[in-house]
Amino acid sequence: EAKKTTRGSTQFYQDSMSVQAREELMLENDIHKAIKNDEFVMYYQPQLNVETNEIIGAEALIRWMHPEKGLIMPDAFIPLAEESGIIIKLEEWIFDRICSDAKKLSEDMGGFNLHHIAINVSTIHFLEPHFVEKLMLLVKKHKVRPEWFELEITESGIMRNVEDAIQKIKELKDFGFTFSIDDFGTGYSSLSHLKELPVDVIKIDQSFVRNMNENDEMIIEAVVAIGQKFDLEVLAEGVESDKILEYLKDINCNTYQGYFAHTPIALDEFEALLKPKK
Ligand code: C2E
Ligand code: MG
Ligand code: MG
Ligand code: MG
Repeated sequence: EAKKTTRGSTQFYQDSMSVQAREELMLENDIHKAIKNDEFVMYYQPQLNVETNEIIGAEALIRWMHPEKGLIMPDAFIPLAEESGIIIKLEEWIFDRICSDAKKLSEDMGGFNLHHIAINVSTIHFLEPHFVEKLMLLVKKHKVRPEWFELEITESGIMRNVEDAIQKIKELKDFGFTFSIDDFGTGYSSLSHLKELPVDVIKIDQSFVRNMNENDEMIIEAVVAIGQKFDLEVLAEGVESDKILEYLKDINCNTYQGYFAHTPIALDEFEALLKPKK
């Protein structure tokens, strides 16, 4: 009996591994094809000043317009793309598109007058040896300024290799990019490293903000205090009501994004928001 169970579970384990491997392979092929067929689109979610409600920038978020499956959200393919490694190819496409979108925005607006466009960076990609060089070449190729972009990295990404991460952040900051820590509060605590990390912004994860309770309030206030102490901008994600926005104003949180102001939108819609109203 015992033997049978053991063999049964081994069998199950192997089967599930190969299913996963097959899925990854399929996704890899699909993503290659989707890049070639131009099925990915970048959306932009405005970021605003809490005090003035002015749009200060946007976060670029990918969408997959699948010809048969319809709209696919990033949570359904980014984690798998990271597991298979295809994320690197995909992010090369993403960064390239964001640069050309930013260039267009700047031309249409008669100059780039946002603080930044925020770019999500996968840990897998960030830890790659040529990441820094690649980004430098990319902005030169597109004739855009590194100052236009804020690179979003995650705590867990930084923690995987703190020394390497700090070195890369420093090089890219010297070059002109700015940095934020995404999903702050959800990963390993990087509190002890925060003082060594030359980042500019902390993003409070939406899970603390969306349906805020008393515990969340304590966390949000603690993060705002940390931001003030370390002289970092604090951005709250997932602001869905004016009540929460008022609260953020009371505690001096700096910036925010969320459905209360804007959902992620296509580039031309974002541009339309920025056009001076006559
Ligand atoms: P994230 O970087 O934390 O992005 C914020 C997510 O919160 C976005 O989901 C955004 O649409 C959503 N959000 C913003 N405001 C609100 C709100 O008020 N309420 C609610 N319920 N949600 C809000 P999205 O676009 O589905 O992206 C999910 C995650 O996928 C992102 O989380 C990010 O980790 C990843 N992702 C998206 N685009 C990219 C990309 O281009 N590259 C990489 N590596 N990852 C990406
Ligand atoms: Mg900035
Ligand atoms: Mg993000
Ligand atoms: Mg986030």
